[in-house]
Amino acid sequence: MTNRTINFYAGPAGLPLPALERAKEELLDFAGTGMSVMEISHRSKEYDAVHEEALALTKELMGIPANYKVMLLQGGAHLAFGMIPLNLLRKGRKADYITTGNWAEKAYKEAKLVAGDNVREAGSTKAVQFARLPKASELDINPEASFVHFTSNNTVEGTQWKDFPKTDKPYICDMSSDIMWRPFDVNQFGLIYAGAQKNLGPSGVTLVIMRDDFIEMCDAQDLPSYLRFKLHADKNSLYNTPPTFGIYLLRNVLAYNKSIGGLKAIEQNNLKKAELLYGCVDKHAGFFKPFVTEVADRSTMNVDFFLPTEELTAAFVSEAKKAGMVGLKGYRDVGGIRASTYNAVSVKDVETLVAFMETFVQKNG
Ligand SMILES: *Cc1c(COP(=O)(O)O)cnc(C)c1O
Repeated sequence: MTNRTINFYAGPAGLPLPALERAKEELLDFAGTGMSVMEISHRSKEYDAVHEEALALTKELMGIPANYKVMLLQGGAHLAFGMIPLNLLRKGRKADYITTGNWAEKAYKEAKLVAGDNVREAGSTKAVQFARLPKASELDINPEASFVHFTSNNTVEGTQWKDFPKTDKPYICDMSSDIMWRPFDVNQFGLIYAGAQKNLGPSGVTLVIMRDDFIEMCDAQDLPSYLRFKLHADKNSLYNTPPTFGIYLLRNVLAYNKSIGGLKAIEQNNLKKAELLYGCVDKHAGFFKPFVTEVADRSTMNVDFFLPTEELTAAFVSEAKKAGMVGLKGYRDVGGIRASTYNAVSVKDVETLVAFMETFVQKNG
């Protein structure tokens, strides 16, 4: 077997080895075509089977009700930031955004660009560097809002809404960095979107899950066609050429996720990983300092912590690399260490990191 690096990158991130091995095996001759899946028509029956399987596995794994459409688009979360207000905030409709981090703020700013005063901030923790989530009492929801937008996992800061914000509005949620980390009830959501490159697959595919009443709100005939959610929903994400290889890999990841017991089993792994990592950080509280001190708000996907000095931080990153672990340097705005432990990171990988951390404290603490 090849020597795989232990990957804690925040995104693009590691993929499950069996999903990659399957791609390797099928690369030169996909489904008996004598071609790779990249080289065949997106209208061919061989590709169509992959496309349908990726959509069906998404619905099955997440338990998506029949009144939702699943779409596989391009442009990442960024294009969705703009498409959401372009499609949904017409005719004076209003929306509230909860800004809890770098990405949540970007989503808000893009919506503001498109919809101006019809978009407002319903709560923000920017005053505390987004190191925690707002309390229910800190949210101020506009009764006239058609939806509330939030970011389920704040990738940069390492906070995560385990209980979704309490409002009586439908949600639109950017789940780019924690989609499918556990099972949850989709019914509260008008729209869910996620760039695939953190928890699902390679970059270049955006998963969009949209409730029928939200699709019906998208009545914009004057938008360029690619920007219309309804068109993609009506055409089953085959209006134009989809990112076929990315969708193929997504299919491989989802099929693997199903084979290991689906989102319930994945949740158990993720909880275990978070317990190990935060456990080590808290145990050595005099050495490691967590960025997020509010325990309930801590992300199971991105764990941010600091070492006593910049020199020790740099030594941690470089020694970890020598020990076969990469991607641990914190995001530039936060600094310190960030270990991203998405679904494809195994409990064993985290055990290896924690053992490294223990040794590092003994040597330097
Ligand atoms: C990475 C990330 C993004 C940016 O995604 P792109 O696909 O690069 O546009 C947006 N939101 C969240 C929560 C992210 O983690």
